[in-house]
Amino acid sequence: MINQKRLSEEFVRLAAINSPPLKESAIASYLAGRLQQLGAEVCFDAAAESTGGEVGNLVAKFAGVSKTTEPLLFSVHMDTVEPGGQVEPVLRDGVFYSAGDTVLGADDKAGIAELIEALEVVREQNIPHGAIEVVVTTAEEIGLVGAKHFDYSMIEARRGYALDTEGLDCMVLQAPSANHLHIEITGLAAHAGMVPELGVSAIQTAALAISQMRLGRIDHETTANIGCIEGGVAGNIVPQSVTVVGEARSHDPQKLQEQTDHMLACFEAAAEQMTRDINGSLVRPQVSIDVRCDFPSMSVAEDAPVVKLARTAAAAIGHDLKVRLGGGGSDANIFNAHGTEMIILATGMTRVHTHEESVAVADMVHVTELLVEIIRQA
Ligand SMILES: [Zn+2]
Repeated sequence: MINQKRLSEEFVRLAAINSPPLKESAIASYLAGRLQQLGAEVCFDAAAESTGGEVGNLVAKFAGVSKTTEPLLFSVHMDTVEPGGQVEPVLRDGVFYSAGDTVLGADDKAGIAELIEALEVVREQNIPHGAIEVVVTTAEEIGLVGAKHFDYSMIEARRGYALDTEGLDCMVLQAPSANHLHIEITGLAAHAGMVPELGVSAIQTAALAISQMRLGRIDHETTANIGCIEGGVAGNIVPQSVTVVGEARSHDPQKLQEQTDHMLACFEAAAEQMTRDINGSLVRPQVSIDVRCDFPSMSVAEDAPVVKLARTAAAAIGHDLKVRLGGGGSDANIFNAHGTEMIILATGMTRVHTHEESVAVADMVHVTELLVEIIRQA
């Protein structure tokens, strides 16, 4: 049923189009043409005006035979992480890799190729189906930027699937929310050899704070990290300033708040502890804190219609679909926040965001079978 050759060729074509975040005009125009060719009405939203990208999010709509069934949504993203550039997909023993000095871009082009092949099969075999909406977002890899600026009035679907996670035969129903922490500590500079007592070290303040912090895996649904620290000028100067960047994630909003508060409290406590009396006046390191919510959490119930549909379709073709807990944010977090119940389906891609990224043709065929069956049963 699935045309393996056509699917492979589609993937190769997609992989060869350079598509870094916000510079997606080439892949967008290819996809617009391709989806039109498959019978869709295609348009773009106005997100580019606010994202600064070359193009907006692409919306493709396929009319269904029945007007009564509610539309089904598929979402994929058109951008890939750097280093992209001229990707040369190489096929070894049925598995696509990059030629070595770039990512492969299977994230998310495996998902796009599978979706296109599924739509080809549905058309070729005249499989009756309800209305299908496809959203191809921009700039997913730099913070779900396209999805955050998407014009949600352009879609009607209230249920859907994002094709964008590693592995095979898994679905993600829950993903955490994340807070991004940016902390600047300002102490007081002094000559480290002659008058260190006249300085207050920003680096020491940061170190003190971090050493008191609960980090890593906090519990089964909460994690925290300090990922970046930058500051100081020279070995002989008590450092005046340091910047610390970190994050906290949790599936539970209250735990996210608690962990974030704890991390910030560590900085305040360290500043308190580092406060010095210098020439009769108290000098306390200043802590400036910026907390930004990167993405909201998502949680789709096990008995939600969109989960049941995936399970029924998988069972009908002998696939064993398992639930996996998501660890990151994806476009699905944003779609769910906007009222479209969406789960994430694995696309067969592996080791994404590395030069060893790969996807097996057989796995893409396997996923495409599921997509066709979901469309048939919707
Ligand atoms: Zn992705």
